[in-house]
Amino acid sequence: MAGLTLDNVTKIFDDDGEEIVAVDDVSIDIDDGEFLVLVGPSGCGKSTTLRMIAGLEEISEGEIRLGETVMNDIPPTKRNVAMVFQSYALYPHMTVRENMAFGLEESTDMPDDEIDMRVEEAAELLGIPELLERPPSDLSGGQQQRVALGRAIVRDPEVFLMDEPLANLDAKLRAEMRTELQQLQEDLGVTTVYVTHNQVEAMTMSDRVAILNDGILQQCATPLECYHQPNNLFVAGFIGEPSMNFFDAERQGSTLVTDDFEYELSEETISSLGGETDLVFGIRPEDVTLKSAVESNHDYRTVVDVVEPMGDENVVHLVFEGNEVSEDDLFTAVLDGMKSVDAKQNLVAEFPEEAIHLFDRKSGEALRNRELEAAESPPVR
Ligand code: ATP
Repeated sequence: MAGLTLDNVTKIFDDDGEEIVAVDDVSIDIDDGEFLVLVGPSGCGKSTTLRMIAGLEEISEGEIRLGETVMNDIPPTKRNVAMVFQSYALYPHMTVRENMAFGLEESTDMPDDEIDMRVEEAAELLGIPELLERPPSDLSGGQQQRVALGRAIVRDPEVFLMDEPLANLDAKLRAEMRTELQQLQEDLGVTTVYVTHNQVEAMTMSDRVAILNDGILQQCATPLECYHQPNNLFVAGFIGEPSMNFFDAERQGSTLVTDDFEYELSEETISSLGGETDLVFGIRPEDVTLKSAVESNHDYRTVVDVVEPMGDENVVHLVFEGNEVSEDDLFTAVLDGMKSVDAKQNLVAEFPEEAIHLFDRKSGEALRNRELEAAESPPVR
């Protein structure tokens, strides 16, 4: 087993003479046994990164190392990595057993009885031993995905590479497989790079999340760090559903002035801003406190536009009192699902200072994030 290093890795495609920088100077150290999720919007370079690790795409600049070994020029079949794709790509004319054994038969000179043993062990691990003699056409989507995983497991690789492996499954099965896959990875202890554009998968499955945008690594940190301490506006807006609320703000002395409200800053917050005055004010919907009366200078009169009852919580879309209701003027708060709230209701929204984020408007860089409370709180007993 070994850790995996991406060292200033760049991939430039030539598209009819036009250079496309798909991955731009990305460096990540992935620990031995770590589960790293690569996440980002469509076209951000996730699959290209994974394909470079697999050896299916040449690296334009930089180095990929497995342990101490530079992988750049090692052909895919010699890399000891196993890839699982979104499409299961099972051979329809072969049984599950034959599908799982095929890669080993083709690319190694392993004796048949050892291959058989590995296939049976993997089938046991995945809870599918009774399916071994069936053809893929007789399997459900979830079972087919297990077989595709089994095919990767039997190779006993040093690294698993997974490209949206759960994307074809329905929501319930996807949630089940998420937990199963995470458990399996932990049991096997194999370094894993998992690509998805689904942020729930990124947050729930990973040890660390690497967030890409336009081929550039925006942040690589634990899910909680990315959530509470985003490096920049992109990460703050990408992670979290519903998204963080943003307001353009100008600092005038100790006051932030936005089109909708004025916000008094403490000395401590001002000191984190390094003199910047062109800012973006951010607050997560769940950090907005809704109440009935104005009590502090961080409280604002609002009107409820729409309520989305989700059961456990209400997603409340609000507009500042006196504003027209337009897409740009709405912001979101999350309220306990048992509390009743109606459209047109007047409410006061509080933006507690400990929960606010402030970003440099020009660079997007975070100047002030909320404290990571979870790290400091005692564990729940
Ligand atoms: P998705 O979530 O949609 O799969 P992705 O994040 O995996 O997207 P990539 O497939 O890595 O993104 O693509 C990154 C960029 O590189 C895109 O702009 C894409 O159009 C471009 N690209 C990918 N492969 C090639 C290629 N063979 N030739 C030219 N451009 C390519």
